[in-house]
Formats: sequence, structure tokens, C-alpha cells
Amino acid sequence: MDFKSKIRVIEDFPQPGIRFKDITTLLKDGQAYRAAIDKLAEYAESKGADLVVGPEARGFVIGAPIAYKLGKGFVPVRKAGKLPAETVQAEYDLEYGQDALAIHKDAIRQGQKVLVADDLLATGGTISTTINLVEQLGGKVVGCVFLIELTYLNGRKKLEPEYHVFSLVQY
Ligand code: IMP
Repeated sequence: MDFKSKIRVIEDFPQPGIRFKDITTLLKDGQAYRAAIDKLAEYAESKGADLVVGPEARGFVIGAPIAYKLGKGFVPVRKAGKLPAETVQAEYDLEYGQDALAIHKDAIRQGQKVLVADDLLATGGTISTTINLVEQLGGKVVGCVFLIELTYLNGRKKLEPEYHVFSLVQY
């Protein structure tokens, strides 16, 4: 399957000079979506993951079907203030200022093997913050999977060799 041909590139979104990778064109193609999830799930299974964690919102679209496919649980990571029960939080830098992500305190058991999933790896900030949350709860990150990796932003360098990284499509 040529996944790249299913991804639409939008010039100058959300700002001039940015070439935004729009995955909605892949998601609406049932065969492409299933084939992409199957590949990521295969990788997750090879790593022995027993839980999938994904950051909102596109991490849900990738992470939840992987979990379903493997018969494992899915845990959402959300912007601080959105989850209803007790959480732990981690801050991350934005272009201007900071924001925080959160996870339910009881979402992961000590020593559980966790796969982290998102749509796209850019600088690696989002996924590093997600990993931080998993580790605060005693989870062990066995792999990170993405539909897309923007190699020129070097997110992989931030993660490897400590973490295993797998992406379907590279730019
Ligand atoms: P990072 O934290 O710099 O690695 O950025 C990754 C996050 O930004 C992911 O959660 C993506 O959803 C989002 N993102 C950044 N660039 C794009 C893009 O071109 N298309 C879709 N999402 C993007």
C-alpha cells in the first residue's frame, strides 16, 4: 500500500511556510486506514505491548484501533483539565509559552508494557511528554508508533536509543 499517496499536503497551514500533512484523506479510505492500523498493530504486538496510550486528539484515531486489534486496553492522554478523575500532569513547551498534558493516575499499573501512538512525529515534544506521564505511573514504554515522521525535525533523535520508534511514512 502506498500510504504517502493517501496523505494530503496543505501548503501554508496553519502558518505561511508550513506544509501540513493532512491524514483525513487516508482515514476516510477504509482500506488504507485498516492497512495502516494493521501495520502499526503488528509492530506493537512484536514489542509485547499490553496497553496503548495516545495523546488527544489524533493519537486517539491511531491508538484506539491498534488497542482494539490487539485486544488490549487504550488510555487517553488529554490536555490538563479535561480528565474527570485524579491525574498526573507534565508540562511541555509551545512556540509561545507552555501547556500541560494529563493522564488518569490509575490508568497504568507498575511495570505494564506500554505502546505510545500518535499520528505524527515532528520535534518529539508531544510524545516525550506522553512518555513522561507513562513513566510517572511506572509504565515501561516498549515502543512509539506514528503514521508519519517528519525526519527533518529530528524527533527520532530525541527518542532513540532509549525508545523504539516506528513510522509508516517519512517526509
Ligand atoms: P511534535 O510534538 O513537535 O512532535 O508534534 C507532533 C504533534 O503535532 C502531533 O500530535 C501532531 O498531531 C501535530 N502536528 C504537527 N505537524 C503536523 C502536521 O503537519 N500534520 C498533522 N499534525 C501535525
